[in-house]
Amino acid sequence: MKHPFYRPAALNTTRLVQYLEEINERRWYTNNGPLVRQLTEKLEEYLGVKNLLLVSSGTVALQVAYKALHRKGRIYTTPLSFIASSSAFGWLGSEIHYADIDNQTLNLDPGSVRKYSDITSDDTIVATHLYGNPCDIKAFENLKNETHCKIIYDASHAFATRFQGKNILSLGDASTVSFHATKLFHTIEGGGVVFANADDLARAQKMINFGFNKKNEIEEIGINAKMSELHAAVGLVVLEELDSIIEKRCAIADQYRSILDQTDITTTVIQEGTDICSPSYMPIVLASAKERELLQASMLNDGIETRNYFDSLQSTTELFEGSHKVLPNSQRFNKRVLCLPLYPELTPADITYICDRLRFNLEAIRSEEQVCCTQ
Ligand SMILES: *Cc1c(COP(=O)(O)O)cnc(C)c1O
Repeated sequence: MKHPFYRPAALNTTRLVQYLEEINERRWYTNNGPLVRQLTEKLEEYLGVKNLLLVSSGTVALQVAYKALHRKGRIYTTPLSFIASSSAFGWLGSEIHYADIDNQTLNLDPGSVRKYSDITSDDTIVATHLYGNPCDIKAFENLKNETHCKIIYDASHAFATRFQGKNILSLGDASTVSFHATKLFHTIEGGGVVFANADDLARAQKMINFGFNKKNEIEEIGINAKMSELHAAVGLVVLEELDSIIEKRCAIADQYRSILDQTDITTTVIQEGTDICSPSYMPIVLASAKERELLQASMLNDGIETRNYFDSLQSTTELFEGSHKVLPNSQRFNKRVLCLPLYPELTPADITYICDRLRFNLEAIRSEEQVCCTQ
C-alpha cells in the first residue's frame, strides 16, 4: 500500500531499552510502579490537568469512570462513535439511550438529549469529542445543572484538543482517553481518566487494583485495570517526541483543510471556542453511503487507504438494553463519513496527491451518477 490509512510513529528503541533495563534492575513490573507514576506526573504537566489515573485501555477507562462516579442509572450517548463508547457500558449491563447528532459537528446534540425529559441524578451523559472536535460543552453543562446528572466525556480522539484556553480532558465529571497504538499519544495499549474531583480519583485508584485500599483491605468491588511498567515506558518514550508528532500532524491536517476548502468536499464544522482541534483524524462527509463506497474503492485503486469512521446506526442495534430508535441526523449521516490518511510520515506532496485523487475520483463518481440518473 502506497499510502496506508495509518502508521504509528516508530518507537525510539534505544530509549525504550534504557527504560527496560531500569525496570529489570528494580524487578518492579506492575502495580503502580515508578514509571507509571512518572508518566502520570509528566502527562498531568503536559496537559495541564489534575487527578489523572492511568489504566490498561480506553474502554476500561470509561467503565472505571462510571463506577468511580457511583453511577447506576441510564446512559445517554451518541450513535456516532467508536463502538467502545457504547459497549463499555453495555458490558456492565447499563441501559443505553441514544440521542441524535448535530448536523454540523456530528457530535452528540445536547438538544436531542434534552428531549428525554426524565433524566435524573442517577443518569450519565457520555459524549465523544468526535474526531477531536469538542462537544457543545456549555449546553451540556447547562443540562447537567438542571438535571444533576453526571457527564463523562470520551476524549479518546481529543488528546491534544484545547478549548477556551484549557485541555479538553479537564472538562466533565470525568474525561477518558485511549492510549491505543492508533491514537495520537499511545502506550501500545492503555488509557486514562481525568477526574474533576480528587475523591473520585482516590476511589478509582482502589477500583483498578481489585478494590484494595492502602492497608490491603477490600473496600470496593474492583477489577484489574492497572497499567504495567512496560506500557508506561512506551508512553514515556512517545511523550519525548510528542511535540514533533503533533506539529507534523497539525501541518498535515491544516494542508488537508486548506485544499479541501477550495473544493465542494465538506468536512466537519469545528465547534466555536476551540483553540486546537486534536489532529487525530481527517474526516470528509460524502453525499451518500453509495458515494462513500465508490470513493473508497477508487482511492484504494490509487494506493490510498481510507477508513469508514464511523457508521451512526448503533442506535438501532438490539445489542444493548435501552431504547432503539432511528434518529433523523444519525440516519442522514449514516455511512457517509470517510477518514483520510493522517500520520507524521506523510509529506506535503503526498497530501496534494491524495487530494488530487480525491477530487478526480469524486468528480468521476458524481458525473457517472448524473448520467445514470438523467437517462
Ligand atoms: C479507541 C477508542 C476507544 C477505546 O479505546 P481502547 O484503548 O482501544 O480500549 C473508546 N472510545 C473511542 C471514541 C475510541 O476512539
